[in-house]
Amino acid sequence: MADAQGKWLLRENPARPDELAGRIRRDSPADVLAAASAAAAAQREWAALDFETRADTLRMAFGAVEGMDALARTMASEMGKPVGECAGEIRFALAFAADMEGRARRLLADDVRGEGPGRRVVRRAPYGVIAAIVPWNAPIILAMTKIAPALLSGNAVLVKPSPFAPLTLSAIVAMIAAHLPPGLLRAVNGGAETGEALIGAPEVAKVAFTGGGTVGRAVLEQASRRFIPSVMELGGNDPLIVLEDFEPTTARMEALVWASFLNAGQVCMAAKRLYVHEAVADRFVDAYVETARRLLHMGDPLDPRTNIGPVISAQAQGRISRVAAQARCDGGMVVPLLNDFSDYPEQGYFVAPQLVTGLTDDAELVRDEQFGPIVPVVTWRDEADVHRWAATGDCLSASVWSSDAERAWDLAASLPAGLCLVNAHNRSGFSFDLPFGGSGPSGFGREYGDEGLLEYSMPKALHQPATGSVASAYPGKS
Ligand code: NAD
Repeated sequence: MADAQGKWLLRENPARPDELAGRIRRDSPADVLAAASAAAAAQREWAALDFETRADTLRMAFGAVEGMDALARTMASEMGKPVGECAGEIRFALAFAADMEGRARRLLADDVRGEGPGRRVVRRAPYGVIAAIVPWNAPIILAMTKIAPALLSGNAVLVKPSPFAPLTLSAIVAMIAAHLPPGLLRAVNGGAETGEALIGAPEVAKVAFTGGGTVGRAVLEQASRRFIPSVMELGGNDPLIVLEDFEPTTARMEALVWASFLNAGQVCMAAKRLYVHEAVADRFVDAYVETARRLLHMGDPLDPRTNIGPVISAQAQGRISRVAAQARCDGGMVVPLLNDFSDYPEQGYFVAPQLVTGLTDDAELVRDEQFGPIVPVVTWRDEADVHRWAATGDCLSASVWSSDAERAWDLAASLPAGLCLVNAHNRSGFSFDLPFGGSGPSGFGREYGDEGLLEYSMPKALHQPATGSVASAYPGKS
């Protein structure tokens, strides 16, 4: 939403849409171009510093993020995530930045190749100015996975927050940027036109994008016209497979419920379709419903008891409700998961959490990413079927749940996802050490791990041949 003159982005509170969570100045295309040119000037000096000076400066800058309670409250008000989860996300993002520093120290040093006369070195060179375009569902960590490795590698970064969650991210970026050379890190705010202006800025040398596939395609097309490389973290319709020997322990059932319902299901790597072997399906559904009704407390995100808030917008609420209605038409049986003590503002964009049983693999709710708190269970008998189903569709991650860890490991490893998990999914399966990213329509490039650091520099080869080598001869041994 914008004000009448279009100067400000206005963000309503999705739990109480008649309240404004805040407003932020919209950057015009001219502002974006000026920011890119200032970023390029700052980057040249930043890249010339030695690594330890950059690392010391960044440690101090990330350490300047303060006022956690106020930041978490702003974030809960602008995007509906429970306030404790918001504080957790900010702390996780800062821990991620610290983890990247160690990787950068180890991976960015010159790599001297080979023995003998002459000099051969591979040096990691920054790209220049990075455009970091992020969605609203985890705005701080999805920006930090780009900001920290890019700055450590010697780049400048312009961050484009989502207009659905611009407030907290812009505030955190400003706190960090205040301790860095002017212009090196900045948020530019607005919608699609701001993102387009950013990718079009001549100084932008790489795009790191997280968001949906439709926008991802537009971003990729624009970047490709300028030959700029990109990291694409797109959507997923991630399968979770339960084998016939699965034991529904309390810990596992709780992990399973959070695998799908964290952030009201609005997580890229949430378990979005559950494939349960028919031999355990009844026990599984009973245990799932009991666990979810015990755990889930839907309410105002600012209430510390709330662990499931509203969805992001009226449009998302309408879309998910339509998907639920279609699931009923497709023969699904809706099992409500809301417990008796939930209490939420009626006018907010709330969608009650639901499990839908009785669907087949071709139902819309199973086929497409729902990005909300409604989750299908499909039963299966033949492992070949479930393997084929799970392999169809976009998978960022996939998981297999079983008491036989070896069998589950082999099945998980054979699935076409970027992150394959055993007896874990979503947050319970996450590790700083492992690269995260998609395959096929869920994207390419990686975040986290060594691979996530190396996205922000390119290998540059330096070679001084040994004196006396014969320039006309082919190099290498005959
Ligand atoms: P979105 O694709 O609508 O928007 C993402 C960002 O792109 C926003 O900042 C938006 O303003 C900007 N944008 C829109 N049009 C643009 C254009 N033409 N050029 C440049 N920028 C443009 O996504 P969303 O609704 O904010 O997020 C939800 C989607 O993101 C889901 O599909 C989810 O699965 C996906 N997601 C993926 C990951 C991952 O790591 N792979 C993580 C979180 C979310």
